[in-house]
Amino acid sequence: MTAVLQNRPVSTPAPTAKKVPHHVVIVGGGFGGLYAAKALGNANVQVTLIDKRNFHLFQPLLYQVATGGLSAGDISSPLRAVLSKQKNVRVLMGEVVGIESDDKHVRLKNGETVSYDTLIMATGSSHHYFGKDEWSDIAPGMKTIEDALEVRRRIFLAFEAAEQESDPARREALLTFFIVGGGPTGVELAGALAELAYETLREDFRSINPGETKVVLLEGMDRVLPPYPGDLSVAAKKSLEKLGVEVRTNTLVTNIEGDTVTLKSGDIEEQVQAFTVLWAAGIKASPMGKAIAQQTGAELDRIGRVIVEADLSVPGCPNIFIAGDLAHYAHRTENPLPGTAATAMQQGEYLASSIKKRLANKTVGAFEYKDNGTMAVIGRNEAVADLGFTKLSGFPAWIIWIFVHIYFLIEFDNKLLVMLQWGWHYFTSQRGARLITGDDSIPALSALVIDEMTMGEQVRGEQARTESTKMVDA
Ligand SMILES: Cc1cc2nc3c(=O)[nH]c(=O)nc-3n(C[C@H](O)[C@H](O)[C@H](O)COP(=O)(O)OP(=O)(O)OC[C@H]3O[C@@H](n4cnc5c(N)ncnc54)[C@H](O)[C@@H]3O)c2cc1C
Repeated sequence: MTAVLQNRPVSTPAPTAKKVPHHVVIVGGGFGGLYAAKALGNANVQVTLIDKRNFHLFQPLLYQVATGGLSAGDISSPLRAVLSKQKNVRVLMGEVVGIESDDKHVRLKNGETVSYDTLIMATGSSHHYFGKDEWSDIAPGMKTIEDALEVRRRIFLAFEAAEQESDPARREALLTFFIVGGGPTGVELAGALAELAYETLREDFRSINPGETKVVLLEGMDRVLPPYPGDLSVAAKKSLEKLGVEVRTNTLVTNIEGDTVTLKSGDIEEQVQAFTVLWAAGIKASPMGKAIAQQTGAELDRIGRVIVEADLSVPGCPNIFIAGDLAHYAHRTENPLPGTAATAMQQGEYLASSIKKRLANKTVGAFEYKDNGTMAVIGRNEAVADLGFTKLSGFPAWIIWIFVHIYFLIEFDNKLLVMLQWGWHYFTSQRGARLITGDDSIPALSALVIDEMTMGEQVRGEQARTESTKMVDA
């Protein structure tokens, strides 16, 4: 080694400082963030992808996990594995809690900071209970894998509890499932739940008849799938009813307390009993929207999304961009773009390409959304699809739905596993992931039992007080 150094020619220039590549930090490994990171794979930039989870989640199939059709691993892909071949991309597991735009760094929950030259924020969204956050315990939503497992736990526990219940009224309430929200998530969940009750579980119980299950889909507007063309809403309702779902439109949930759900249709209010209420009614942007607004003065819309420029940048911050559900993009569109995987993927890819163009001093055009249509699946072999140039429903729409979903699953293993399981499910109606994990209590039922115990104590207390009064009187 010494010899090599000694033999070095005198004219060799001293090593110059290596140029540090442009550092792109992407927060969020969902559809927006992951597609941006993938598209920056061969670029001359250093990329750090930060996510609080170590996996990418394919949210469109969460309802399958919730109804025991697929397992959590089938719809999740480890971010490190997905990006392992892209040597310029580093994955960091951590939760971003703040941004300091003057110092150009993001702050993690563990106190660390990560500096950036360009920042892409793609932290998505969460459920919205329209100011009734206290309903979240009783009526879980479906956004994370834990949410889907919780929904699955409640669904299968309700059947188990019904099997052991001798009181007919309570058994009926245990076999009643309310799904709040008739958008694509609610429609898909209702269809799968009906199929589970009326087909998959048909022979599995001895004291109850799962065929007596009531799956009720509640929608505040006058039709399900409100953003879809009217005839597809009609077709979706028909398919749901064919599966046994009771569809109630123009119906609002005004209260959920214990096992009692209060519904309002026009001026009529009624109270119904159900131990399982599932929330599919609304979303709000991730809290990072607020953090960005506080730091940069950006405007937020009513659900907390950052109102972005035509190139997806935060107004006044040309090196901070927003992608996916966190972005409110309304340039050259009548309404803000829908919060869908397609929007997020297109925005992620656009941002990767625009960063490359900027670094090459090329002009960057505005983001242009390509509308490839929307789809919702209803049960095992029907769907509705609005593809722009044509509208389909029933089996043909389902075939398209299935191929699109398998195509966009991230990893080859997942594609194969899901295809095999759907094939099996199609012919047998079986759902192999019907596990109840975690706690074995149903919140609404536990609340009722506690109420009954408290009432019992009150009654006993009253009796004791009466007894003692009698004794004093005597
Ligand atoms: C049940 C359900 C069904 C759906 N079905 C469809 C469908 O059929 N078709 C369709 O097109 N769309 C569907 N969507 C919508 C689609 O999934 C979203 O629009 C899409 O996931 C948005 O992508 P995103 O990248 O903005 O956010 P996400 O995919 O939600 O990703 C956000 C990422 O950010 C991470 N993150 C969040 N906060 C932080 C933080 N502070 N620090 C670090 N990381 C953070 C999260 O862990 C997550 O990985 C569905 C959504 C749900 C919930």
